[in-house]
Amino acid sequence: MSEVKMPGPARRKKAQVATKEALAAQMKRWTRDEMVCRTYQHRWDAYTVEPEGKNLLSTLFCARCESYKYELIDGSSGHVLKRSRDYPPGYLTVGLGRIQGPRRDELRLETAKRFLKGPSKRHLNAVEDAG
Ligand SMILES: [Zn+2]
Repeated sequence: MSEVKMPGPARRKKAQVATKEALAAQMKRWTRDEMVCRTYQHRWDAYTVEPEGKNLLSTLFCARCESYKYELIDGSSGHVLKRSRDYPPGYLTVGLGRIQGPRRDELRLETAKRFLKGPSKRHLNAVEDAG
């Protein structure tokens, strides 16, 4: 089977788990949108689909954090053969580790607290553009 070139970084190695202290420090640096995508998952929307031999390379885009997700899908069955992602500069936090267990709760709580402060600047801009 020939190797299909996929955009985006190579798969990450076995992830370590984030510590409470490391997550707390990182949450101070993340923007509200970065917090929302990490808490509630990305808002994927169809972006492009290109033929890739007998298969299709589907690109999805999250307008909130500007990440891309690529799926190479079987042109006959639709089964996903490969997945990869491409994050904007600074999105990935090297060395933080996987956010799971109590860390997910801490992230959810911090995102909720920020949400209480009002909509993101990006959302406000979109509302102004629509008006
Ligand atoms: Zn996102």
